[in-house]
Amino acid sequence: MRVAVFSTKPYDRDFLTTANAAAGHDLDLLEPRLSVATAALAAGADAVCAFVNDDLSAPVLERLAAAGVRLVALRSAGYNHVDVAAATRLGITMVRVPEYSPYAVAEHCVGLMLALNRKIHRAHNRVREHNFALTGLLGFDLHGRTIGVVGTGKIGVCVARIMAGFGCRVLASDPYPNDEALAAGVTYVPLKTLLAESHVVTLHCPLTPETHHLIDEERIAQMRPGVMLINTSRGALVDTRAVIRGLKTGRIGHLGLDVYEEETELFFEDLSDQMLRDDDFSRLSTFPNVLITGHQAFFTEEALHNIAATTIANLTAVERDGADGVTGPARVC
Ligand code: NAD
Repeated sequence: MRVAVFSTKPYDRDFLTTANAAAGHDLDLLEPRLSVATAALAAGADAVCAFVNDDLSAPVLERLAAAGVRLVALRSAGYNHVDVAAATRLGITMVRVPEYSPYAVAEHCVGLMLALNRKIHRAHNRVREHNFALTGLLGFDLHGRTIGVVGTGKIGVCVARIMAGFGCRVLASDPYPNDEALAAGVTYVPLKTLLAESHVVTLHCPLTPETHHLIDEERIAQMRPGVMLINTSRGALVDTRAVIRGLKTGRIGHLGLDVYEEETELFFEDLSDQMLRDDDFSRLSTFPNVLITGHQAFFTEEALHNIAATTIANLTAVERDGADGVTGPARVC
């Protein structure tokens, strides 16, 4: 199968090339992000392979369909960036990687909690300048604290297990409680209770129209003063401006982000020699109690191996058996 692979970096190329060695698909490993302007690069391809910040809106899908593309293979679990109705209307089969390493994201999430709490990023900078003072670096024991996990799917359950291991009380909110989370020691409560009682709130639900700005001004007001908020899920779960106001008043005591509402124009690129035009991002970067990583929670060897292997397997299954070659959670439409 001839596949136009968008948004590839050297690490994607390495893992995809290795995974494809036996399958033998004709992979066109492209650097540009998929958009209306770059969709023409897929001319002649049977399939497109896309990542989280590629544009899969109706105008892009229409161009892909007109170019003869019948399959889009996402290298991600989330598909909030896809117009599924348009893909269905255009007869484009869409497949994804529903699970590649929940541990990768969960461990990064806990890394953000630990670094923020103990101010490891600030301590590192101080020690490099031979400043060994501890003033301003005071943290708290996570042991005995309450952690609120919003969304107890694959990643949320991993986080719950890790935090239970730290000796935390773990509360959770999810419209579909599950036995795995209960076995991890989670107590399900309404979101309002979780927000009121948790010292740390961590988001692990998908971005949907219902969860857009789940954390807004009103929900921030329901949180414990000085709460730590962590978002490793999708940027738009959080109303960035409301969070900035919460940081300024001290209602939010720590903020850890791996995702950002307007990350598409920023993340995955080296912009170090450019002026940032995003004032909200610039403001967030000025707070000493904010730690931001550029959508790297998934970025482990195991995850990249699994993403590449599942993506190639999805392509092979559709080539062999048509659209129904991929079923279950890996099939988006
Ligand atoms: P999952 O589908 O296994 O779990 C999602 C859970 O959220 C489900 O249990 C669902 O019932 C729950 N949920 C849905 N709506 C909710 C709501 N309103 N309130 C509370 N819970 C709700 O997904 P997962 O594999 O655990 O991944 C979670 C999210 O993490 C993904 O949607 C994706 O956006 C994000 N993610 C981020 C990275 C990264 O690198 N930062 C990598 C992978 C996934």
